[in-house]
Amino acid sequence: MCLTCDIVNGKAAPVGGVIYRDGLVVVHHCVDVSVPGYLIASPLRHVEGFGDLTAGEIERLGAMAKKAVNLLKGVEGVKKVYIANFGEETAHFHLHIFPRYDWMPVCHPEATNACGRLDGPRLLSICREEYRAAREAMNQPEILELVAHLRGRLGE
Ligand SMILES: [Zn+2]
Repeated sequence: MCLTCDIVNGKAAPVGGVIYRDGLVVVHHCVDVSVPGYLIASPLRHVEGFGDLTAGEIERLGAMAKKAVNLLKGVEGVKKVYIANFGEETAHFHLHIFPRYDWMPVCHPEATNACGRLDGPRLLSICREEYRAAREAMNQPEILELVAHLRGRLGE
């Protein structure tokens, strides 16, 4: 039982379908958080830690993450793109590629730390809870259009 393995094996379909896949890695939209462009990049192999990745997987994940970050930076309203790995909810190694929109700190001032600076990990966590959505609710035009846009460019 692994969601990422199910996506790799075609048993589960992420919103809008897989965005990019080659012999080593897969990139798809987050399946249950309705922030447009929130991507997940994983190796095809079920490994759990960064230290379990092959040099080839690291190279490909890094290259795809860089491409995804640069593409997301071109999306209206995206100010930064966060990249993180935790592996707490889904064990299969994956990178969170999270577009931080300009409206997020405005809507979530609670993500500001005591020094008045935006706390990125806290904002990511708040957004993951606040915009958690059922699979049916993920089929929003904004998400589907962005997925299609990224699919056309990520493989170039
Ligand atoms: Zn897996």
